Amino acid sequence: MSPDRFIALFQEYLRINTAHPNPDYDKTSAFLSSLCSNELPSHTFRTDCPAGKPIYIISRIGSSPSLPSILLNSHFDVVPVSEEHWSSPPFAAVRLDNGDIVARGAQDMKSVAIGYICALINLKDVSFKRTIHMAFMPDEETSGRDGMKAWVETEDFARLNVGMALDEGLPNINNFVFVYYNERSPWWIRIDIEGNAGHGSQFISDTAASKMLVILNRVQTFRDAQEKLWRDVYNGQSLGSVTSVNITFANLGVQYNVVPDKAFVGLDVRISPVMGIVEFQKILNGWVEGIEGTSITLVAQSDECPSSSIDPSDKYFSAISSSFKAKNVEYKTDIFPAATDSRWLRKKGIPCYGISFIRNTKMLLHDHNEYLNENELLNGIQFYTDLIPKLANLD
Ligand SMILES: [Zn+2]
Repeated sequence: MSPDRFIALFQEYLRINTAHPNPDYDKTSAFLSSLCSNELPSHTFRTDCPAGKPIYIISRIGSSPSLPSILLNSHFDVVPVSEEHWSSPPFAAVRLDNGDIVARGAQDMKSVAIGYICALINLKDVSFKRTIHMAFMPDEETSGRDGMKAWVETEDFARLNVGMALDEGLPNINNFVFVYYNERSPWWIRIDIEGNAGHGSQFISDTAASKMLVILNRVQTFRDAQEKLWRDVYNGQSLGSVTSVNITFANLGVQYNVVPDKAFVGLDVRISPVMGIVEFQKILNGWVEGIEGTSITLVAQSDECPSSSIDPSDKYFSAISSSFKAKNVEYKTDIFPAATDSRWLRKKGIPCYGISFIRNTKMLLHDHNEYLNENELLNGIQFYTDLIPKLANLD
């Protein structure tokens, strides 16, 4: 199949508006099932809906189907757009003269899905030992709780006998590719604070506001230290190696002459596996230590995932690294700074590697004028065309 056809498939996929809150499931289903009727005739298409949202699966059965399968994972949902900030309509997938294709989802992550699809089209006459499943998930951008999180608990998923998975990474402005082997655990934390109330003219002791200030200062001190670590030790790279915190709520007040008796603080924390949850829990307890009338609620909490092996002797990782070498592409292993569907797979003990193969490209995930140059797409297709047989022929 010609590169032009691959680029056309990419544009076709991008033109399906799968932005939340109403991803177009019907068109996504029609697009993917038509691939199995036309470009990928030896593959099957089906839908699973463990939580009411469709998960589309394209499968190709290997010659030794009892071997653990390879899962090529992607999500088809994308985040909403502010259309007035775009140079062309975000679901038109306009191709510029320099080969840039501008569309929501061009980087995150329809490009990766098209990389898998076009590689399997390239390989349609090659036989594999292991079964390959491509999964297209519906709600990665809204937490994965109705998609991958629910799906991995189903019998349908267990029957796929997944041995390892590939998923998304991040584009890189430099000339190398990131391979993510773990990610940070997001925690949303609410700290409620009670204090003495009274008239705004008095020196009232132990107010909710004074307690809140102590807590906010402790949080900020931790934040400054982690930022310094990130800048000094990690050179402002590898955000996933440090724990970030942002104060996203600081709420108190009734009226100007009333000293309020209640306050709350909201925090968005991303716990690095380098620090670990046990260590962070101690730090969190320290933020309220010695302050009466405080309570901590974990509004959202994600457990720690096991890291997928990046040992050179690991068969899956070594297949990945040898594909990069075969394509003369430099790569670096890293911890993903945010959260992806990979975490639900890793928690099930399935090795999962996040790779988005996109180099020399400004990261525009969730941003205006998201684009991908067609040459990056074609490089990615070549990469997967090399990698998929290596994975699928492992004993
Ligand atoms: Zn994504």
